[in-house]
Amino acid sequence: AKDSGRGNRQFYQPGMNVRATDVLHQERLLREAIANNAFVLHYQPQISLADGSLQGFEALVRWRHPERGLVGPDEFITFSESRGLITPIGRWVMHEACRQLKAWQDEGLAMVPVAVNLSALEFRQRDVAGEIAAVLHATGLAPRFLEIELTESVLMHHTGQVLETLNAIKTLGVGVTIDDFGTGYSSLAYLKRYPIDKLKIDRSFVMDTPQSADDVAIVTAIIQMGHSLQLKTVAEGVETANQKDLLHRLGCDLVQGFLVSAPMDAQAAHRWLSP
Ligand code: C2E
Ligand code: CA
Ligand code: CA
Ligand code: CA
Repeated sequence: AKDSGRGNRQFYQPGMNVRATDVLHQERLLREAIANNAFVLHYQPQISLADGSLQGFEALVRWRHPERGLVGPDEFITFSESRGLITPIGRWVMHEACRQLKAWQDEGLAMVPVAVNLSALEFRQRDVAGEIAAVLHATGLAPRFLEIELTESVLMHHTGQVLETLNAIKTLGVGVTIDDFGTGYSSLAYLKRYPIDKLKIDRSFVMDTPQSADDVAIVTAIIQMGHSLQLKTVAEGVETANQKDLLHRLGCDLVQGFLVSAPMDAQAAHRWLSP
């Protein structure tokens, strides 16, 4: 896959010669972080290409690491999965995103949905639909203000159970986005089998546009297919005005990326929401 920035920066990978004491040390720090809620969510805006308006935020988790400062998810999500520690982190993320959005709503701010990432392992291991229902109930956030981002790998396995869970999420009124679209070993059949609302075009297809004719063709095809299936399309990792202009011309609905804004803390995100 072209997206080499993703998933290759974990602390420890098979075959890497790391000392077991380091693993145990990091695991202990992670357990402490979970006990102390030493995580923070950053929010990255998604804007409409039609009128530039804010249409949503993606919530991205960071770890306030005692020795290394703010650590990004690529460096601890896979590690926490391997140590059996992803569930409490994922639960915290879901709850915190919903709590924050409801707090903004209670302040009288203009509301947009927040998107929360769930890894394939989390989706398999947890009663995601039941948990979402409980978090929405506990925080009081309306379901239309929550979206779930899933990668294609979720959809490949355990078809019956995945369909049941997605239908339950849909019934709640929560949106479902396929993240990193086009990078998985996907069968397009799942796009009609599952209740999906949005396709998020992976950054690896966006980053070499408009120069790469191949990538322009791929992005064009994804947007057209998405629209024929009544799905919204979002492009991630948009860094240049040329990329944005191309996406606009191609009819893409939303963009997200450094051109608009890097992920930011809650205080900065607050400023994007006018009363
Ligand atoms: P993702 O879902 O594909 O999220 C987009 C990543 O791209 C984020 O990295 C974001 O900061 C980065 N990004 C945004 N705009 C640009 C851009 O214009 N250019 C470039 N080069 N990068 C951009 P981040 O925050 O480090 O997150 C990495 C991954 O970690 C996410 O990829 C997501 O798969 C995962 N992740 C983040 N938060 C969570 C979470 O709460 N739970 C789970 N399970 N996974 C999470
Ligand atoms: Ca995502
Ligand atoms: Ca993504
Ligand atoms: Ca991506």
